[in-house]
Amino acid sequence: MSTLSHWIGGEARPPAGGEFIDDVGPATGAVIARVPRGDRRDVDAAVQAARAALGGPAHDGPLAKLTLEERAKLLEATAARLEARKDELAQLESLDTGKPVSTAATIDIPRAVSNFKFFAGALRHDRSDCFPMDGALNYALRRPLGVVGLVTPWNLPLYLLSWKAAPALAMGNAVVAKPSELTPLTASALASLLSEVGWPAGAFNLVHGLGPEAGQALVEHPRVPAISFTGGTATGARVAATAAPMFKKLSLELGGKNPTIVFGDVDLDVAVAGAIRAGFTNQGQVCLCGSRVLVERRIFDRFQDAFVQKVLALRTGDPRDPKTDLGALVSLAHRDKVEGFLRLAREEGGTVHGGVRPDLGPGLKDGAFLTPAVVTGLEPDCRTATEEIFGPVVTLHPFDDEAEAVALANGVRYGLSASIWTKDLGRAHRVAAQVEAGVVWVNTWLLRDLRTPFGGVKDSGVGREGGAHSLDFFSEWKNVCVKL
Ligand code: NDP
Repeated sequence: MSTLSHWIGGEARPPAGGEFIDDVGPATGAVIARVPRGDRRDVDAAVQAARAALGGPAHDGPLAKLTLEERAKLLEATAARLEARKDELAQLESLDTGKPVSTAATIDIPRAVSNFKFFAGALRHDRSDCFPMDGALNYALRRPLGVVGLVTPWNLPLYLLSWKAAPALAMGNAVVAKPSELTPLTASALASLLSEVGWPAGAFNLVHGLGPEAGQALVEHPRVPAISFTGGTATGARVAATAAPMFKKLSLELGGKNPTIVFGDVDLDVAVAGAIRAGFTNQGQVCLCGSRVLVERRIFDRFQDAFVQKVLALRTGDPRDPKTDLGALVSLAHRDKVEGFLRLAREEGGTVHGGVRPDLGPGLKDGAFLTPAVVTGLEPDCRTATEEIFGPVVTLHPFDDEAEAVALANGVRYGLSASIWTKDLGRAHRVAAQVEAGVVWVNTWLLRDLRTPFGGVKDSGVGREGGAHSLDFFSEWKNVCVKL
């Protein structure tokens, strides 16, 4: 069992308060690490170290002195070092989250590598506006924001942290990051790795701890002018309420209850496989998961039979076994929450297929395992079908025509993503335009081009990440007007 440290000013630091939290491996229930319980003093120290890396108004700190090309090379070196350690990082991510090693090895870690590679390229290809006037010239310069705060969740720990850290560092900001205390291992690995590849001390600082303590102190800190937050909608509202009166720049990537819309003209096997992948990847703990499957009535019964049969055949088991489809949920408390929704689904008149605690033998008996569940027979406006569960639970609902499909898709408070399955191109474009979501897929799911805008509408968030959107968030444009 390891004892983790904060990472402040290029070195490991114990928590100011001397307290630690247990990091429990959700597959075994065993304590795998001790996590510093950071507080306001640790956040203060991290912000000071970050400010020292930037220097004073003359931008004379070691981070501020890096040229654009030097930053791009450091981002590439970070990607190369992550790639070299990919197997070890995939093991750590699996240990901490309970997800199959195969998921971490094919999604989490390669995407973290891509994030650093991508923003090296985005930085080199970045451009600015120039507006010539008669007798004068305007040009726009990007300026870093200073110290930026990154608050990230437990479902895709390294992937989502790198999605923010890479563009923040690309733009020349110093970072203070607060990962979820449930999954601190890969954030710690990243912090020391960034120093190893040559980022100046204080460029990336990590404060572990609880959201209402370390997280809240970071959001409240007067010297942190921007917060990029990914997490639940209720927490996002608290973060916004704290940050807004301080006029902080804010990016909020929040929850979802995303529709998978299946029209009657699909190839049934392809659509069933796509909907299962969208519903149950990472045990259903991806903000983009399609947890409401809406199916045209004329194929509903056939779709439901095939879907339920294939979901019940998914293997829930040891995350280290390459044959495992679903590992453990992130914690026993989270499994309790998901099981609470299954009880609610029954009370609301639904039939639950699956959704039981599997017997996986003595080594995994204390793990947070739950087999995937499909709920049928629910009204589409009931709580189970409209609230975010964030677990391996999918509800199925029939619809009669395109207008009803769109109305059902839009009938929730969230608007993060949607996937549409049809062979009719005209319909695909029409429905894509009408669905209230920031990200829409047609005949696929989770296919990502990092240049594209990413984010939600309604209660799924504020702002966009990805490509130039991330560079815009992590910098401030300044216009210079020169009289010639
Ligand atoms: P939470 O909102 O509980 O936590 C997110 C992060 O915020 C954690 O680091 C948490 O720390 C921290 N935090 C909690 N309270 C505060 C506070 N008052 N001030 C500052 N920080 C705080 O989300 P989960 O970790 O449970 O993640 C799951 C949620 O994330 C789901 O709703 C999911 O939809 C959403 N999500 C959204 C994505 C998107 O891109 N839209 C992507 C991935 C997930 P701690 O863990 O210590 O409480």
